[in-house]
Amino acid sequence: MNQGIALVTGASSGIGRATAELLAQNGYYVFAIARRKYRLEQIRSERIEPIILDVTDDEAVRKAIGYVISTKSRIDLLVNNAGISQLGAVECVPLEAARYQLEVNLFGYARFMQAVLPHMRNQKSGCIVNIVSVLSRISVPGFGWYSASKYAIEALTDAVRGEVMEFGIDVVLIAPGLIKTEFVPKEFRLLETISHPPEYKNLLSGMRNLVADEPEAPGPELIAKAVLDAATASPPVRHALPLDSKMSVIARWLLGARIFAWAVRLQMKFSR
Ligand code: NDP
Repeated sequence: MNQGIALVTGASSGIGRATAELLAQNGYYVFAIARRKYRLEQIRSERIEPIILDVTDDEAVRKAIGYVISTKSRIDLLVNNAGISQLGAVECVPLEAARYQLEVNLFGYARFMQAVLPHMRNQKSGCIVNIVSVLSRISVPGFGWYSASKYAIEALTDAVRGEVMEFGIDVVLIAPGLIKTEFVPKEFRLLETISHPPEYKNLLSGMRNLVADEPEAPGPELIAKAVLDAATASPPVRHALPLDSKMSVIARWLLGARIFAWAVRLQMKFSR
């Protein structure tokens, strides 16, 4: 039975919660991390211990890692997963909201990587799984700031992989396509906080068309299984799933930027 120590951020719902539960079922002792205490308490068990924190808080992350090391002496797996999506036209999203998007998604992941790597280096082993997105290789109207945060995580991940492989540490990207969680409803609630001039009417309806399949999308267990595989086998360094996630990136590469943008507008059903 695996006795590894895992940290999963964003474990109060969706992909993070499914991952924390699956890792625990497979023998990991899991520190489940997020802000919503009552949600984390629902999954507390012999093998799942909640840590309540905000990934934008340096001091809270430093303390949490100190606590994990003082109680368990090691960290075998970090699953960087906590994320939000600030939708809106690039022109209209206030830079303060854009900065917050990067603070949670990009610096949140970086903060945890910087905090765990000294321990993984000392133990000469470890695995970091960074959850990105199909939108970390393609960028579509209305999702620009979210994509910017995820592209940046890919860049950082590819760099850090080369920096730490000689210390026995694996760094893996998992890129989900549309997954049925709280994520899409939340991002459309955040969109409502942004004011757009009437000229963006097509964009606003188009964005909803792009995620119209969400009710039929696979559940978060699909991604949890990919994380478990990444932690326990020798996975590809970037794993995109389900298949349509992989296909969109191939289509962008085959079609080139201009034709791809036109194809996306068709899918978004822009009326002109
Ligand atoms: P959910 O909204 O269900 O989960 C997001 C998690 O992130 C929650 O546990 C939330 O917890 C946590 N979180 C958000 N902000 C913070 C913060 N400041 N500090 C601590 N925790 C935070 O969405 P998913 O499970 O779908 O998303 C997980 C990851 O998967 C994200 O990185 C997302 O970008 C990615 N992804 C999702 C896709 C999808 O279609 N669902 C597609 C592609 C990628 P709390 O609010 O309690 O703090």
